[in-house]
Amino acid sequence: MTTIQHWIDGTATAADSTRTAPVWNPATGRQQAEVLLAEADAVDRAVAAARRAFETWGEVSLSARSKVMFALRQLLERHEDELARIICAEHGKAIDDARGEIVRGREVVEFACGIAEVLKGSFSNEVSSGVDLHSFRQPLGVCAGITPFNFPIMVPMWMHPVAIATGNTFVLKPSERDPSASNFVAQLYADAGLPDGVFNVVHGDKTAVDAILDHPDVAAVSFVGSTPIARYVHERAQSAGKRVQALGGAKNHAVVMPDADLGFAADQLTAAAFGSAGQRCMAVSVAVTVGDAADALVPVLRDKASGLNVGPGSEPGVDMGPVVTSQARDRIAGYVASGVKQGAEPVLDGREFRRDGDGFFIGPTVLDRVTSDMDVYRDEVFGPVLSVVRAETVEAAIDLINANPYGNGTAIFTSDGAVARRFEREVRVGMVGVNVPIPVPMSYYSFGGWKDSLFGETHIHGPEGVRFYTRLKVVTSRWPSQPRQVASRLHFPTA
Ligand code: NAD
Repeated sequence: MTTIQHWIDGTATAADSTRTAPVWNPATGRQQAEVLLAEADAVDRAVAAARRAFETWGEVSLSARSKVMFALRQLLERHEDELARIICAEHGKAIDDARGEIVRGREVVEFACGIAEVLKGSFSNEVSSGVDLHSFRQPLGVCAGITPFNFPIMVPMWMHPVAIATGNTFVLKPSERDPSASNFVAQLYADAGLPDGVFNVVHGDKTAVDAILDHPDVAAVSFVGSTPIARYVHERAQSAGKRVQALGGAKNHAVVMPDADLGFAADQLTAAAFGSAGQRCMAVSVAVTVGDAADALVPVLRDKASGLNVGPGSEPGVDMGPVVTSQARDRIAGYVASGVKQGAEPVLDGREFRRDGDGFFIGPTVLDRVTSDMDVYRDEVFGPVLSVVRAETVEAAIDLINANPYGNGTAIFTSDGAVARRFEREVRVGMVGVNVPIPVPMSYYSFGGWKDSLFGETHIHGPEGVRFYTRLKVVTSRWPSQPRQVASRLHFPTA
């Protein structure tokens, strides 16, 4: 049995950890490895290594930092197949979907390659007689990331490339359910020339998380996961005086207007609801049909969803893999049962899906005539379940979305520009798609929800990520007499 270790100060290490958690292969239902669970001591060692590394990394030139990012980008491309297989084996998602997440993560590394441009400060000449003023941003120190199971590569990459390129050092506590991808990235960073201690990985559960949240040498915490834990992390880290951004769960609604291209909308909704077995924070879990749109849409949705090829993510042609654990499968089945019991119509019931073996499989489910008081609507199911809620008008659809405590993503399918414009202005959600079901912003914008989907002020990656991982300094200067400049070399200056 392989034991997955921490990565501290450039080396794989157990760091005195003895507790472990099983790592499953969701497609077979068998345990394939165990991962160490850190006590506070291992976190302390990782933070100490990061703190030491910060003394020099914070002073490394911008061009040297972007050189590491360029090298990491190349390595991520070269090792894409290996990484995709690691993700697929521990998470269960289809291999092409795993590749997609690597590409989206790599895009943040590409953003970090250009960090010098983004970090440019401002300068005002002669704000008073002989006085100039300039501003620039400086790194915070040791930053930490705590991440969920559903994107073991992409979500940590929303954080560490930006934190490291801006001059910080980093301690990552990835999900204990699919930990191997993070160790692989640590090795790639080392191969890219990142000095030891700048990027560290500590595996663990609540004990490790609490040790990070309370650690006096951790300056900032980025968290992505479920809403109750996001709220907890935000409160605890903030009360320990840290900067914190905590992204939580979601309940993403897609509105389908009667004037939409219903075939296109059904295609897009099928991909957005059942891709990665619905285990995406931007998955569409509620289709809000307006007027009579449901009558034409629901049969097409049923046909498309029932035609999906469900099986091990590593097999060619598989659209949807298993869910992450047997507990997740049972929880999802429980929500389908409660929806039916509370009056929803099971157009397609994923509980009826059968497959030989012990894999954590459940088929796609479409529930029609779901109402906002049902548990399957109120809670984040985080599985392949699409609820159809029928609304009379677009106003009623917007009210429904605005009344929901989550506000991560939403979308509208329509051919009417005025309706789309009204929707994007009135809906209280952080990321909005118009005829785009999963509106995940590109890496040079920032990602984040509203309401219970994000605690803290800043969204993640892109310009807001840079602001989060740096603090602003403004300098007012006067030089009554300038020292003489001496040119010491004749060659072209380099960093
Ligand atoms: P989770 O909240 O269970 O775990 C997230 C992290 O918190 C993990 O590293 C885990 O070890 C740690 N953790 C778990 N329980 C803890 C506790 N009691 N105290 C301290 N730390 C704890 O989430 P998950 O099941 O791994 O991931 C799925 C969730 O993440 C969904 O709710 C999904 O919507 C959300 N998510 C949100 C976004 C976003 O951008 N808003 C992105 C991806 C996932």
